[in-house]
Amino acid sequence: MLKRIDLTRDYQKHKEEYLKAIEAVCEETAFSGGKFADKFDEEFAAYCGMPYAVGVNNGTSALHCAMAALGIGAGDEVIVPANTYIATAWGVTYTGATPVFVDCTSDTWEIDPDKIEERITDKTKAILGVHLYGQPFEFNKVKAIADKYGLYVVEDCAQAHGALYEGKMVGSLGEMGCFSFYPGKNLYAFGEGGSITCSKKEHFDFMTTMKNQGCQVRYYHDMIGYNYRLEGLQGAVLSVSLKYLPRWTERRREIGRRYLTEITNPLFTMQAHPENTNPVFHLFVVTVKDADDLIAYMNDRGMECNKHYPVPCHLQKAYAHLGYREGDCPNAEYLAKHCVTLPLFPEMTEEEVSMVINACNAYTGK
Ligand SMILES: *Cc1c(COP(=O)(O)O)cnc(C)c1O
Repeated sequence: MLKRIDLTRDYQKHKEEYLKAIEAVCEETAFSGGKFADKFDEEFAAYCGMPYAVGVNNGTSALHCAMAALGIGAGDEVIVPANTYIATAWGVTYTGATPVFVDCTSDTWEIDPDKIEERITDKTKAILGVHLYGQPFEFNKVKAIADKYGLYVVEDCAQAHGALYEGKMVGSLGEMGCFSFYPGKNLYAFGEGGSITCSKKEHFDFMTTMKNQGCQVRYYHDMIGYNYRLEGLQGAVLSVSLKYLPRWTERRREIGRRYLTEITNPLFTMQAHPENTNPVFHLFVVTVKDADDLIAYMNDRGMECNKHYPVPCHLQKAYAHLGYREGDCPNAEYLAKHCVTLPLFPEMTEEEVSMVINACNAYTGK
């Protein structure tokens, strides 16, 4: 069975290097925060071309920290795309603010700039855009709207490490960039991890204090804090992985481009990738008429596929109290019903890529 994503291949390939890095942390017992976590923060900031990166315990905490650092809280609203992983909205909700969901476009499947303005109220404080599936959203249009209303733009980069928008790294475009290092993300820890990139010292200081129990000097707590520190073991593993990220990204792009050009079955619709972006193909999502039928078909042929995501945020039970109905975000709802994610990870062989392409092209639908 070809898995949708198989992490064992990278581990087996670089096992000695990973275990050596883990051992170094154990030798120094630098487990919570500490020098290995700090070293990774510096490396990751440099990779993103940003002055600061604040390592945290996961991507959801990263989003929470970013919202809090901007002073967002109870009574405020933040624009969030309906088509994203639910954690994008959690970061807003944790502060006491309300996510306001906006539909995606019918071709890029990213937040639709033309539908943002109608959802802005005098409570709106920020637009939280998501570079979903590794495809940068239309940043300049979103930023123009934000500037018109005096709002922040924050990037959810959890699926887009290294993606470029007009030649610039995601995570360096908006006020802050939030990353996840969950296993299976383009850059991942051996456990949980996350980071926020920012260029303002005041944001860096706020988030560094917030994630560390609200203290700068041990046992003196200046604000309500959280325990959101990045573990030393994760920092050490991430420093190893970060060296390979450019190579992995290139390989993802090769596979993505092969799928885009060689899957020619007219029953398939693919995500649009505008000219001014260079995506990193975190997930290769297609839509077909009967998604479950395609998933079963691929499964029968030894290829695992799944769905990202079967329920759009605005229709999740957790947000039922916000009162959204079916029909509020039609493009996101269409995607939820019809999406299928094909296998894609850097260690796939050319033969495996061909196998996926051939199976897709031979699919006759239902
Ligand atoms: C993975 C992900 C997150 C959350 O990151 P965790 O590290 O799992 O907490 C947030 N937003 C998006 C778009 C994601 O894909």
